[in-house]
Amino acid sequence: MTPLERELIQQISTDGPMPVSEYMQHCLLHPIHGYYTQSKVFGAEGDFITAPDISQMFGELVGLSLAQTWIEHGMPAPFHLLELGPGQGTLMSDVLRATRSVPGFHAAAQIRLIEASPRLREVQKNALAQYDVTWHDDISQIPEGPLFVLANEFFDALPVRQFIKSSGGWTERVIGVQKGMLELGQVPCAIVPQRVLEFDAQLGDLVELAVGLDAIVQSIGDRINAFGGAALIFDYGDWMSLGDTLQAVQNHRPVSALDTPGEADLTAHVDFAAIAAAAPCAYTRLTPQGVFLERLGITARAQMLAKNLSGDALDRHIAAHRRLTHPDEMGSLFKVMGLYPKDKTPPPGLEK
Ligand code: SAH
Repeated sequence: MTPLERELIQQISTDGPMPVSEYMQHCLLHPIHGYYTQSKVFGAEGDFITAPDISQMFGELVGLSLAQTWIEHGMPAPFHLLELGPGQGTLMSDVLRATRSVPGFHAAAQIRLIEASPRLREVQKNALAQYDVTWHDDISQIPEGPLFVLANEFFDALPVRQFIKSSGGWTERVIGVQKGMLELGQVPCAIVPQRVLEFDAQLGDLVELAVGLDAIVQSIGDRINAFGGAALIFDYGDWMSLGDTLQAVQNHRPVSALDTPGEADLTAHVDFAAIAAAAPCAYTRLTPQGVFLERLGITARAQMLAKNLSGDALDRHIAAHRRLTHPDEMGSLFKVMGLYPKDKTPPPGLEK
């Protein structure tokens, strides 16, 4: 039994069952036993590898899309260059390297990171040691001004509530305790959030709702409207899809979400329609990651990098290109959505 499991069993035994979202929040961000707070999360030794860690090409192309948007918006200076949930800091580091030669971009950029995990803040500090970086707990702490935002695999870590359409009405999935063990249950839900009712749900269908998503997207969108800027959001997910997408991953393998609380990564697919619905600014069409990267010229960049490689390194490079873009790998499952001001055109690689 994990230490967090013991603590949750104790808490649920006295306070009663908790919604899936509360369970997820404890598992990921508990101050001592939370997954992001404590464990070796990323890379080959960790539990999963994300796009920036697969290849430098991801961050380079994202950086160029962002810099091009900044140029098209009249090079506002200063501006906030914000990343949500930067993990090991690889994406921001690649973005900054790729934009070094964009005149005025670095001088104008105030680098800001929103990161909940103190341990990961340390990792990011080392990865970005050569830059002046400020950390924040949430967007309200960021001063007014033009805002350019990156978020890769951030929204999938937001805790979800799960509602089920049952014959007796809507129920909510909860985590309870049965015979001293954590167990899934359902409680009747007299009032469900309006957003849940907007799904075309049939009897037995499950609808997920990411807690906090609206508030985050609204405050980003309000700033983009008021001061200019853009956001690029990358994640796995789809448009208002139904079903239980809560997944737990440990050592690169799927495990049960209740088995090892605090020791497995818990995520849920992102409902990009919820982001669009919450956005007070313009948003782009949902675009597969592979299509986005191809439009930005990943193949040409891959060929250029390949010229200096041979043997194993070349094989790894070719595999990484495929992994980022191929429909059987991350190319279709992962999607990109951009947010931008109503009077501007979408960021390069994306369409209205
Ligand atoms: N973007 C990185 C890491 C993705 S993992 C990459 O692509 O590799 C999710 C990241 O979001 C981690 O850094 C995690 O600590 C952070 N995070 C999760 N929930 C958060 C929250 N509510 N507020 C701030 N950061 C959060």
